[in-house]
Amino acid sequence: MQDIESYWQLMQDKVCSHCIDGGNSGGCRIDQGRECALRKYLPQILDVVNSVYSPAIEPYEVQLRNKICGICIHQSVAGKCAVRNEVECALDRYFPLIVEVIEESQSRNRQGNTNRT
Ligand code: SF4
Ligand code: SF4
Repeated sequence: MQDIESYWQLMQDKVCSHCIDGGNSGGCRIDQGRECALRKYLPQILDVVNSVYSPAIEPYEVQLRNKICGICIHQSVAGKCAVRNEVECALDRYFPLIVEVIEESQSRNRQGNTNRT
């Protein structure tokens, strides 16, 4: 079982390193006062990924909209998000990669546990 901090390190390695808002030395360049939804909602993202098992991304996206966008201050009651529309939300932008990285990590962990038994 991985803790949130180890998942965050994984996200920094595999997602922030590809992010257009990532700095050269692994930092984040988004404006002070703005918090990346990947960082802010990481526990909820894990819940979303663990609540779906599908080869398609769409079922994960439905859960993303329900469980995370639904509580995010940027989404209106009508379900619209200006940040998403402007492709400024890193969580939305890299969501397929995020799902893949989490599922691969969990799969590797399960295999490691099986090999130890
Ligand atoms: S915006 Fe989010 S995903 Fe991009 S580098 Fe910053 S923390 Fe990482
Ligand atoms: S897409 Fe919009 S509503 Fe959803 S997490 Fe990103 S900023 Fe929040």
